[in-house]
Amino acid sequence: MNAITLVFRGDLSAQLTIPPTKGEDVRYPLARRASIKDIIEALGVPHTEVGALLGNGVEIDFAYLPVPRDRIEILPPIPPVDVCSPTRLRPEPLPAVAFAVDANVAKLAPLLRMLGMDCWHQRDVDDATLATVSRNQQRVLLTRDTKLLKRKQVVYGHLVRAQEPPRQLREIIEFYGLRPLIVPFSRCLLCNGKLLAADKNDIRHRLEPLTEKYYDSFRRCGDCEKIYWPGSHRQRMEESIAAILAETGP
Ligand SMILES: [Zn+2]
Repeated sequence: MNAITLVFRGDLSAQLTIPPTKGEDVRYPLARRASIKDIIEALGVPHTEVGALLGNGVEIDFAYLPVPRDRIEILPPIPPVDVCSPTRLRPEPLPAVAFAVDANVAKLAPLLRMLGMDCWHQRDVDDATLATVSRNQQRVLLTRDTKLLKRKQVVYGHLVRAQEPPRQLREIIEFYGLRPLIVPFSRCLLCNGKLLAADKNDIRHRLEPLTEKYYDSFRRCGDCEKIYWPGSHRQRMEESIAAILAETGP
């Protein structure tokens, strides 16, 4: 019989459109010439969720064409995932850790920016645009949409499992080992621009009277010019950052 055996490890079997009833093994009849990537995605698992592939015990890549009686193990990535180092499945690493955020996890954008992460997000963009941005700007695409992650253009992506934004943020910090990269309040929450030190005299005309009276330290966004200062809003954010970091691993 022209079938292969697929073994989905970790939580990957939960993403299969038809989860296996007994154990983890899936028997797949080879009806056409298809790469292992196409086969895995036809069964419901986006290529972005795969960390490594073993064909009969030997590491293979997405282009591998299975032959009858192959036994292929599909392994999830092992956190912390370093997107800046090449792997067998993704030989072209990203130059830096950067994200593109889909509308279905939109609240991750300001949270990641709050930690200083480079995070592209725009309202009302279609899937094709998101996929292009992730490819052209070399960003990890974060979404809860498996169909979007199956697009060819997407190289680095992650299916966000958590539902609540603070838990989603923890998930991303742990999955990509972001803790050493965190520089709070270095990015504009609105537009992702970098924050620059601002001289109070240069921006005085834009301040509310009480802000001008009580604060001396300011930053401004290099892109949209929004002004930031260490007010009560910032104190709340510092508390929420501390709480999130306290619950994530090292
Ligand atoms: Zn800005």
